Amino acid sequence: PLVLGIETSCDETGIGIVRGTRLLSNTIASSMEEHARYGGVVPEVAARAHLEAMTPAIEAALAEASVRPDDLDAIAVTSGPGLAGALMVGVGAAKAFAVAAGKPLYAVNHLVGHVGADVLDAAGGPGHPVEVPTIALLVSGGHTSLLHVRDLVSDVELLGETIDDAAGEAFDKVARILGLPYPGGPQIDRAAAGGDPNAIRFPRGLSLPKDLVKHRYDFSFSGLKTAVARWVEQRTDAGEPVPTSDVAAGFREAVVDVLVTKAIAACRDRDVPRLLLGGGVVANARLRDVAAERCAAAGIELRIPALSLCTDNGAMIAALAAQLIMAGHEPSTLDFGADSTLPVTDIQVR
Ligand code: ATP
Ligand code: MG
Ligand code: FE
Repeated sequence: PLVLGIETSCDETGIGIVRGTRLLSNTIASSMEEHARYGGVVPEVAARAHLEAMTPAIEAALAEASVRPDDLDAIAVTSGPGLAGALMVGVGAAKAFAVAAGKPLYAVNHLVGHVGADVLDAAGGPGHPVEVPTIALLVSGGHTSLLHVRDLVSDVELLGETIDDAAGEAFDKVARILGLPYPGGPQIDRAAAGGDPNAIRFPRGLSLPKDLVKHRYDFSFSGLKTAVARWVEQRTDAGEPVPTSDVAAGFREAVVDVLVTKAIAACRDRDVPRLLLGGGVVANARLRDVAAERCAAAGIELRIPALSLCTDNGAMIAALAAQLIMAGHEPSTLDFGADSTLPVTDIQVR
């Protein structure tokens, strides 16, 4: 099926078009720069930016794919989880488009969409269904979630998630502590390249034996952020220079260590031979390297979609809906709304 997907859960207005598992276009307008001076995504600013970007982005995606609205078999949209106001813009646009063009509408889950991205080939090749079962580690500015995917369209289980800051959020906050600009991920990555990851050992949240009993697959990054802040403060108070590269490298090592350790533990516990990564933090070079090393050592197949499909995008939403359609799922009725806390088990909202 030929599907147009609309994604507006955070600060990317993503419009993607797929035919089955083949990617035809993936247009992204981001309001990230507008959030830079606030050091994080401002919901009202994001919602307004979606409103402005929506029509041009849809037109650009259709033009790039050489598709007319009439040709489409369905429209898909992220209905949650995400920022309520931002989601509402996408949901409203999708309903209007679906009604005007007389097309069925599929309301889908953003997090499962990140998993669905794996069906696509960023270079435009034929693609293939997601190989299951797989453990999925989704890490971005708004999420840190570990999923057990037995079937993309019918069986996704949440194993754990962050109990405070998301991994990307931690990068953004620590960058701020170090005086580096937003978004912090790429800045920390760059600073860390010249540092010693073992010079300072920062805490690995929720991985002490007592934490593991209750929080085996949950994450916590706010204690790590506080530890970095305190370390930097003590240095500054003592009138000593702060070794930015070593702090960045030590912090990055702590985040990556916890993420990969818990993801691999899930593969082992669940006897799943596959790990899929998704979300904007996948841009982190150290995360990709450590995941590759430890998966190879554990005999686990590591899948990392192209970065353009890991960050928020509309193509993954279209791809998930195409899989739902191929599995015989009915379209959503038009009375669904945006749900900022949509659980991952709700793969499609009816
Ligand atoms: P959502 O949580 O809804 O998926 P988001 O916009 O917060 O949305 P993304 O756009 O996928 O998430 O990712 C942005 C986040 O990824 C930011 O927090 C940013 O700092 C982080 N990030 C980007 N590059 C890197 C990197 N090289 N290393 C670590 N983090 C990174
Ligand atoms: Mg973003
Ligand atoms: Fe996302």
